[in-house]
Amino acid sequence: MQNSEAEELINQLIIEAKRLYDQKLISGSSGNISFKKDNKIYISATGTNLGKLSSNDIAIVKLNGEVLFNKPSKEIMGHKALYEVHDDVNAVLHIHGEYIAAYTVITEAGNSDFPAVSASVPLKIAENIPMMEYFHPHPINNYEIFLKTAKQSKIFFHQNHGIFIGASSLQEASDIAEVLEANLKIYFLALQTGRKINLLTAQQKNELFTKTFLK
Ligand SMILES: [Zn+2]
Repeated sequence: MQNSEAEELINQLIIEAKRLYDQKLISGSSGNISFKKDNKIYISATGTNLGKLSSNDIAIVKLNGEVLFNKPSKEIMGHKALYEVHDDVNAVLHIHGEYIAAYTVITEAGNSDFPAVSASVPLKIAENIPMMEYFHPHPINNYEIFLKTAKQSKIFFHQNHGIFIGASSLQEASDIAEVLEANLKIYFLALQTGRKINLLTAQQKNELFTKTFLK
C-alpha cells in the first residue's frame, strides 16, 4: 500500500495521462509519465494504455533502479536521468506528439535552437532545448547519453522519436507538452506557406521565458 501523498500523486498522474490522451498528445501505450516521491519513481507500467490507467498500472522503481512493483515502461531511462540530475524535477513526461515527432525528424542532433514562433503560445520552456542523438529508445545501455543530455536541460528532444520533459509537477509537465506541440503545429503550418518565417529571436524567447513562466 502507498501512503496517502503517493496515492494522491498517482491519481494526478492518471488525470494528466487522460488529459494528454484526450488531446491526442499520446495514443494507446505510446508515451509514459512518472513522478518522484520519497526516492522512488512511480511510472506508467510497460504496455499500459495511458488513456485508461488505473493505480494497478503504475510501476514503482527505486532511484537506484531496483524494481519494487510492476514492470516499468521500457523508456524509464530518460525519466531516471532527469531525476538524478535535477533535484527540482518531480515529474517527467515522455511523448511523441505528431508535431513534436516531426520536428525531431528534421532537426540535427546537438541543435538546441528551438524554433519559437508565437507569443500567443507562451513558452513554459527554456530558451534552448537540446536534440539528443538517435538510438533505439528501449535498450538500457544508453543511460550515459541520457545523463549527458539531462545535464544540459530539463527538457530535451530525442531525434526521430519524441521529447522528454522534466518539470516541478505532473501538471506543469503536461502544460509544457501542450505548449510545445501547439508551437510546433504553428511552425509547420507556417512552413507550408513557403513564405519567409519570422522565428522569435533568442532575446524574445528569453523575454517570454522570464516574464511568463519558469524563473
Ligand atoms: Zn518513446
